[in-house]
Amino acid sequence: MAKVELEHVWKIYDGKVEAVKDATFTIEDKEFVVLLGPSGCGKTTTLRMIAGLEEITKGTLKIDGKVMNDVEPKDRDIAMVFQNYALYPHMTVYDNMAFGLKLRKVPKDEIERRVREAARILSIEEYLDRKPRQLSGGQRQRVAVGRAIVRNPKVFLFDEPLSNLDAKLRVQMRSELKKLHHRLEATIVYVTHDQIEAMTMANKIIVMKDGVIQQIGSPHEIYNKPANTFVAGFIGSPAMNFIDAKIIRENGLWIRSSGFNLKIPKQFTDILEKYIDKDVIFGIRPENIYDKMFAMLPKEGENTGRAKVDVVEPLGSETILHLVAGEDKFVAVVDPKTEAKEEQEIDIVFDMNTMHIFDKK
Ligand code: ADP
Ligand code: MG
Repeated sequence: MAKVELEHVWKIYDGKVEAVKDATFTIEDKEFVVLLGPSGCGKTTTLRMIAGLEEITKGTLKIDGKVMNDVEPKDRDIAMVFQNYALYPHMTVYDNMAFGLKLRKVPKDEIERRVREAARILSIEEYLDRKPRQLSGGQRQRVAVGRAIVRNPKVFLFDEPLSNLDAKLRVQMRSELKKLHHRLEATIVYVTHDQIEAMTMANKIIVMKDGVIQQIGSPHEIYNKPANTFVAGFIGSPAMNFIDAKIIRENGLWIRSSGFNLKIPKQFTDILEKYIDKDVIFGIRPENIYDKMFAMLPKEGENTGRAKVDVVEPLGSETILHLVAGEDKFVAVVDPKTEAKEEQEIDIVFDMNTMHIFDKK
């Protein structure tokens, strides 16, 4: 069992830098939780407080119901994999993996058994006699993970473990870490600024900005029901479009922007009552705007519009269009068979069932 709870946790460095502000969340046993946010938002600090490498300024950290604030890192039964791997350069892979166990006075044959088992799981058996400098980035990364696995800890902490790998290896390691999670049945807290890593691996995502938690939810919830424009803009690529608009009631509700007049589906009318005649931000993802020629959606005119094509970016599997309508600038990911040309006008269709309305700040 390993349940990690933070209750109103703050980290203030040097009495002035508020790195983490009032963080409250629970990581359930065997969950794979991702702390997601841009550089400097407090992810590493949060992880280091859980590990005991950083003192908690205010608030409570509990593991399995016990307060851990003053417990030494070595007594927390937590293993951390660092961003730079932190391997000992003069030691072999075997010794790097065995080191923590030796310190804990684990019997030699038990160490041997655990190191070989971890090496097998991670497919690094043939490198056990090498030094870290004789390994590729990806192999070093595995050794760092192996060093954590052999300890068989209650909780694994990962700090951007894939950020030093090339794109192809990152994709591969993503699925391997996911499989490893199932296999170890461990509780994992994983830090990244990469929304794709978060979406693909997490059971639960905690989105942070400037030391403050913005939203906690499943990948599905974070994508489909973002709490604010920060979360909405951070998840998804290309990013969600934000268009200044007004909500109008005229035989139903409408979104009126500089370039469009779009009917709001009935399912939204109750929750949007409070916005009538107010300035709002209309959010719609690029993948939910279609080139009308290839749209599979109703096209009776209430969810359509015309836009000028500013830039066409063909990617092969899809085409990204940068579009302009009135003052509205936005992006659509459309069928690659599109005939849209730069400087021309095209008809587009909005999937209004996927729309979002945010408060205008
Ligand atoms: P992230 O991992 O999300 O990039 P960090 O947790 O490393 O963010 O940093 C959060 C904030 O705390 C940043 O503003 C950073 O400059 C600051 N910070 C981090 N470590 C220290 C430190 N040891 N002393 C002072 N400020 C720090
Ligand atoms: Mg960091």
